[in-house]
Amino acid sequence: MNHKTISKSIEFKGIGIHSGKEITMTCNPSTSGSITIINSKDNNATLPLTLDTLAESHKRATLFKNEFTYLSTPEHFLSACAAYSITSLDIHINGNEMPILDGSSIEFCKIFESVNIQEIPDKPLSPIIINSPLTIWYEDTCIIATPAATSIFSYFLSYDHPLIKSQSHTIELTKSTYMNDIAPARTYGFKHEVDHLIKQGLAKGGSLDNALIIGDDNYINEPRFTNECARHKLLDLIGDSWVLNRPIIGHIIGIKSGHHLNHLFTKALATNYS
Ligand SMILES: [Zn+2]
Repeated sequence: MNHKTISKSIEFKGIGIHSGKEITMTCNPSTSGSITIINSKDNNATLPLTLDTLAESHKRATLFKNEFTYLSTPEHFLSACAAYSITSLDIHINGNEMPILDGSSIEFCKIFESVNIQEIPDKPLSPIIINSPLTIWYEDTCIIATPAATSIFSYFLSYDHPLIKSQSHTIELTKSTYMNDIAPARTYGFKHEVDHLIKQGLAKGGSLDNALIIGDDNYINEPRFTNECARHKLLDLIGDSWVLNRPIIGHIIGIKSGHHLNHLFTKALATNYS
């Protein structure tokens, strides 16, 4: 297995969910074997995708170097990278967050489908092969990694909410299962929480065009799957795990986990499989 990059440059444009501002990001092929973000709004400061830059704020993933050099909401893009095993890119961006697009990763996948994903000769990549169970947990949330022949991801969530209740989803991670079953699942929010975020001056770009919004006893907009929330949390778990920049052979099971536990999990994996 070798590192992979894209055959030619691709561009994504859209608003950032935090700032509401228009963002353009251009992904260029790279043979470096790593993903690097270069921010033109920050004197072309570079932000490498590494465990050291991984952080979380306001329940969202962030890559953080300092108060000027950071990038919010990389997880949906990274999740699509995981599905296509893309490990090597230079990403030029003109802001501090990735475009939210429709709140899922389907648009990233569609553009990846329009180029060739190429192996980089003489750039070997060793996958993480889970050889014994690893559990990381906090209160009622948990992530378990167990050995498996392929890459399998599961997620379980439960809310005290009449529509959502308990949901789960499992996929064997391939490009096609991801594209069909996971990529279209949008980020979601409960209406009362979204109203609170807006009052705090956050989620300026949030709208019914880029999130599934859940009211007290009904969906405000139409869900794409009956278990869209669980599928989206699975999308996030796959994306947060891609900070390792290595495929995982094993079964990863997230139970009510969020970005914070996902990050602790990736750090534990890195320690165990360095
Ligand atoms: Zn998400």
